[in-house]
Amino acid sequence: MYLAAQGFGFTPHRLYRLGLGLCRNNFHCRGNNFHCPARSSTGLRGYKGNKMPKEGKGSAPPTPTPTPASADPIPTPSPTPTPAVVDPIAAPPAMDHAEFRRMGKEMVDYIADYMEGIETRPVFPSVKPGYLREMIPDSAPQDPESWENVQADIERVIMPGVTFWHSPHFHACFPTGNSYPALLGDMLSGAIGCVGFSWAASPACTELETVVLDWLGKMLQLPECFLSGTSGEGGGVIQGTASEATLVALLAARSKAVQKFKSDRPEMSDHDIMGKLVIYTSDQAHSSVERAAMLGAVRCRKLQTDEDLALRGAVLQAAVQEDRAQGLLPFFVVATLGTTPSCAFDSLQELGPVCREEVMWLHVDAAYAGSAFICPEYRPLLDGVEFADSFNFNPHKWMRVNFDCSAMWIRNRADIVDAFNLDPLYLKHDNQGLVTDYRHWQIPLGRRFRSLKLWFVLRMFGVKGLQEHIRKQVGLAKEFETLVRSDERFEVTAKVVLGLVCFRLKGSNDVNELLLKKINDGKKIYLVPSQMRGAYFLRFAVCAATTASQDVSYAWEIISQLAGDVLQGENSGNNKDGEK
Ligand SMILES: *Cc1c(COP(=O)(O)O)cnc(C)c1O
Repeated sequence: MYLAAQGFGFTPHRLYRLGLGLCRNNFHCRGNNFHCPARSSTGLRGYKGNKMPKEGKGSAPPTPTPTPASADPIPTPSPTPTPAVVDPIAAPPAMDHAEFRRMGKEMVDYIADYMEGIETRPVFPSVKPGYLREMIPDSAPQDPESWENVQADIERVIMPGVTFWHSPHFHACFPTGNSYPALLGDMLSGAIGCVGFSWAASPACTELETVVLDWLGKMLQLPECFLSGTSGEGGGVIQGTASEATLVALLAARSKAVQKFKSDRPEMSDHDIMGKLVIYTSDQAHSSVERAAMLGAVRCRKLQTDEDLALRGAVLQAAVQEDRAQGLLPFFVVATLGTTPSCAFDSLQELGPVCREEVMWLHVDAAYAGSAFICPEYRPLLDGVEFADSFNFNPHKWMRVNFDCSAMWIRNRADIVDAFNLDPLYLKHDNQGLVTDYRHWQIPLGRRFRSLKLWFVLRMFGVKGLQEHIRKQVGLAKEFETLVRSDERFEVTAKVVLGLVCFRLKGSNDVNELLLKKINDGKKIYLVPSQMRGAYFLRFAVCAATTASQDVSYAWEIISQLAGDVLQGENSGNNKDGEK
């Protein structure tokens, strides 16, 4: 690939490193070795948007041109006192401080009303694709509009097209987190509005994340090596999603593997090695694993699971041997704790030793189930994590934190930093090496202050409050399971371990598809299906934090009544067929 010497800088060069392609960035592409004669004390002076600084001039003190504060993510402090400038964020006509106080409070009231009455809204919208374009103008207004106008469109334009994930009648997918403490944290994060790519870019943003992920790691009783505040080499980071965490782990593992295979087999080029790399996961793994393999340009083998839908050590061992015999290079395994289709658990205790033996990176995806491991009674499900090189779960799924907050821990932070590190001059600062620069732990450069909402949630619920939430929701799933088991027309198709019940009508896939269609067409509750070994089934997940026993009975009433309709229809249909 080619790029201009001054044009882009950081990102394309890093793309080249992660993509293992060739990069020609004439004159200035010297990786980490930028010469920095005049590094400023804040380490941020040289930062100028996305521009590559000129060599030699580096971070020379900026000329105090009066750039508007909003144009530069990190405004350059002006050396001379300047006359009071209008604050562009608070400047009329958009909204001034006083108006923000008033409208902000109105918005909080609106949100509280919305949450309080959410179960009265149809859980799934009735709009048709393209509905929204008809409802608003073709282009942005030239003149400012009033807040009252904007506000009115929330109910008119937005709400009719919302699927209410926080309705107690929402039982699709997995839960997505939410709570008032988390919303407050996100509000503050938005206001601080820092872009915390390095320690210097906002020390609190980096340091709170590191400490709060240690808190969380301790809540899960992760092995000490994953925590930052120990003698170990590991640490935690907040990624946007579990999918990103898997990709980041894969790229770090790939980089490490290429180095290793190169020293083992000097006759092989990077290209030869890349063409032979292979990763493993189970046939129940989330699609993001296969996607990570696709993006990382490596082969992915989906291995067959046992009768409990778990990936076992012997199956992995056999696949690795087979592939090695073919000349392939196994290097990465993703084990799932709590699979998306049925909440099954791979056998970490068996997979771990195989990964150790075969020198493969073990990444553990516990996106949904991970939150449950804060309860001592569910912690055994995490046994074997001591073999993992990286571990990830989503507090934004089941731990009351709103999207996005995906917690990831690495056993050896050097593995990830080595794969992702690229330091152009404008990102260097004095404390480099001594502190965490989270940009080396993730794909983007910029990052939000996401640890605030996690911190608020941990403090305002306390570990006990969060444990209670998990236990209550598992209890509700068990209630639903009891209802299903008490009805002979139905069967439960997977062991109910946490907050998900997989069930189906005894009978054909068609009957079950029809049942689900009727359920969702009614829009009173919302469920999604899945399939295993050719059998179509329905998934009932306990999602909204406000879900109560009566919501479970309500859902069951609807399901069992519609089941009656479907079966009756089928019987009369069969009779008709019989008559023909
Ligand atoms: C939900 C889920 C994911 C995807 O989570 P994102 O954070 O949306 O990427 C990955 N793996 C499993 C097991 C999941 O349940």
